[in-house]
Amino acid sequence: MNYIGAHFSSAGGLEKTVLRAVQIKATAFSFFTRNQRQWFSRPLLQKEIDDFKELCIKYTFTPQQILPHSSYLINLGHPIDDLLKKSRASFINEMMRCSQLGLIFLNFHPGSHLNRISENSCLLRISDSINIALEKTKNVIAVIENTAGQGTNVGYCFEHLSEIIKNVDDKSRVGVCIDTCHLFASGYDLRTEQDCENAFETFNNLIGLKYLKGIHLNDSKRKLNSRIDRHESLGLGEIGKLAFRWIIRNKKFYNIPMILETVNSAIWEEEIFWLRSQKKFN
Ligand SMILES: [Zn+2]
Ligand SMILES: [Zn+2]
Repeated sequence: MNYIGAHFSSAGGLEKTVLRAVQIKATAFSFFTRNQRQWFSRPLLQKEIDDFKELCIKYTFTPQQILPHSSYLINLGHPIDDLLKKSRASFINEMMRCSQLGLIFLNFHPGSHLNRISENSCLLRISDSINIALEKTKNVIAVIENTAGQGTNVGYCFEHLSEIIKNVDDKSRVGVCIDTCHLFASGYDLRTEQDCENAFETFNNLIGLKYLKGIHLNDSKRKLNSRIDRHESLGLGEIGKLAFRWIIRNKKFYNIPMILETVNSAIWEEEIFWLRSQKKFN
């Protein structure tokens, strides 16, 4: 079974994300667990938690289909100790919010070295951050997203993700989310079936497909290896439709949330419809 959806706004309440998903016939969804421009938010109210859970049950969304995204402010590999601490506290807070909502994933961007420490020490800090967060929380899997490698972001190659996971103590609570735009922008070609096979075979060899907990389905405005993160609607960017059809038809990607973060939310319903229609030719 494919779980396909998009990243929805939680304006008006977290439970609205469920309704927004239902409205465009999504079977997966994502949202920010809180205002992504703030470090901390007020705790969730019991009513919000209950409403969210109730709607998930009503519309048969299981935690497996929901991939919340953490704030962009968080840098779990921050080179400055005080700021690293702040990021860690904020991340733990988000993990707890997910847990309160009965969810099992929290998707996050690994971090940046800011030219103050080496990539390797940055990766180590990220692993430590994950270890600390896992110790302080229950049930939620920390899902590392690959990056385009813009600026001083780490996580732009499978080796980085594998290195982070290697130093996480509880391997059962760490995973990876692959963003196709980031993948392409960081130099993994996806334009032919062979390219797709190669990219995911390398992923399997270096990380392992069992760690794949989610996919962000985005085309890329920028060229292969541009290291610039600019999403585009499916088929309108440099990647093209083939990669998305290949992913949708591949049984390896069943039962994990596939989330659109494409630029034009007005056509998400159409994009989801198109993705589903690609399965018919199996
Ligand atoms: Zn993404
Ligand atoms: Zn992106």
